[in-house]
Amino acid sequence: MSVNASAGGRSRNHIVLTSHGASTGVAADGPVLNWGAPDPALRGPVVATLTDTTRRNAIGTHAGGYAVYRALAIAAGALPADFKADLTNTAPSDIIGPHPQWGDPGKIVSLDPFGHMIGEAFGAEVAGGLDVRPSIAITRAHIDMPEIRDALRAGRLKIDGDIIGPKGDVRVTKAAIEPVWYLPGIAARFGVSEGALRRALFEHTGGMFPELVTRGDLKVFLPPIGGMTLYLFGDPAKIGDGITPLACRVHDECNGSDVFSSDICTCRPYLAHGIEICVEMAQQGGVGLVVYNRKEGRALGEVTKFLVYNARKRQEGGDLPETYFKRTECVAGVQDMRFQELMPDVFHWLGITRIDRFASMSDMKFNALERAGIAVGERVAIPEELIPLDARVEMEAKVSAGYFSGGFQSQFDATQGRALEE
Ligand SMILES: [Zn+2]
Repeated sequence: MSVNASAGGRSRNHIVLTSHGASTGVAADGPVLNWGAPDPALRGPVVATLTDTTRRNAIGTHAGGYAVYRALAIAAGALPADFKADLTNTAPSDIIGPHPQWGDPGKIVSLDPFGHMIGEAFGAEVAGGLDVRPSIAITRAHIDMPEIRDALRAGRLKIDGDIIGPKGDVRVTKAAIEPVWYLPGIAARFGVSEGALRRALFEHTGGMFPELVTRGDLKVFLPPIGGMTLYLFGDPAKIGDGITPLACRVHDECNGSDVFSSDICTCRPYLAHGIEICVEMAQQGGVGLVVYNRKEGRALGEVTKFLVYNARKRQEGGDLPETYFKRTECVAGVQDMRFQELMPDVFHWLGITRIDRFASMSDMKFNALERAGIAVGERVAIPEELIPLDARVEMEAKVSAGYFSGGFQSQFDATQGRALEE
C-alpha cells in the first residue's frame, strides 16, 4: 500500500508537519484569537480546520475523539481530505447568550462560547473562505423514558401538553458541545504552568500533537476527548436570566448503568431522578438542565472500570464500602480522574449564577460550582428506594467519604456487594 494523501483529489505526497511553522509553509498566519474578548469581532474565530492548514490558529481538530474515525475514513478513501461542510440550515434551534461571562477569560476555558454562532459571529470570515466550524450544535427533541412514565403513573408528574406531551414524551432542547481548551486558562485552573501542561499533554498522548510543545503561539487546543450534551427543560430563553428558578443534574457518563441498567451503581436511577426534578421545575414555570459529560467510569474508561469491578468482587472479605475507593486507586492510580475543575464552564456559558435545586450528592461537583461563584440552593439526594441493592456499597462509600447524604440511612457495617459468581 502506498502512503499517498491524494484521496481528496489534491495531490499531496509529502507529509505536512504542523510543528515547524513557516519553515514548511505552515505559517502562523491564522486569524487573531483573543480568548475572553466579549466581542466576537475582537475575539476572532477558532480555526482548527485541516483543509487549509496555513490558516489554523488552534492545535488539534474538530469532533473530539471522532477525529480518528475521520482520518480512517480519509485513509479508506471514503471521504475526500478536503471535504468542506455545507452548513445550510444547521443554525441553532434556540438562542443561547451572549452572556457577560463570555467576556471573562478566567470563567470559560474549556469550550468556545461562540461555538454555536459561527454564522452570526464570523459570517464575514466564512464568506471570505475561512473554514470555521461549529463546536456547539443546538437542536430540539422529544425524550421518552420508562422512569418518566412511572412518575406519571404515580402522580408525581402530570401531562400538560407542553413540557410533557400527550403520550408521556418530554420536549427538550439539547446542545452538543465539543471541548475547546484555552491552554493558559486550563493550566491556571489546575495550578500548573502552561509549559508543564503542554508537555504532559504531548508526552502522555504518545506525542500525538507536537504543536503543544513547538507552537507556544497557538493557545487553543481541541483535545481528542468526549465533550458533553445538555438537555434543557422548559423555555431555553429563560435559562440564565437570573430570575427563573433552575433545577439541575450534572451527570458523568456511565454506559453500563445509563444505557444497560447495570445494578452496581446508581447512575441511571440518579439521571432519571434528575430528569424528573428538571421536568417538575419546568412544569412549575422554572427551567431544568441536565449536563451529561462524556467521562466514562470517572474518566478512567470502561476497561479500567470493569477491572476495578473484578478487583472489588474478588478481594478477600468481599465487596465492602471501606475498600471501595482503595480498589479503584490500586488499578487506576487515583480514585477519580474527572476533576470537576472544568465542569462549571458550561454554567458560565449559559449565564447561570444560581442553581435552586441541585440533584447531586457529589461534594466535588458542589465545591467546584461554589468555587466558580455559582450558588447552589437545595441539594437533592437520590430517594433511597431508587438505589439498587448492589449499588449500596458505592453509596455507603461515597457518603462515608463526604458526599452529601440527604436522608440516606447508612448501614455501613452491614453492607456487602454481590460476589462475582452470584
Ligand atoms: Zn455508574
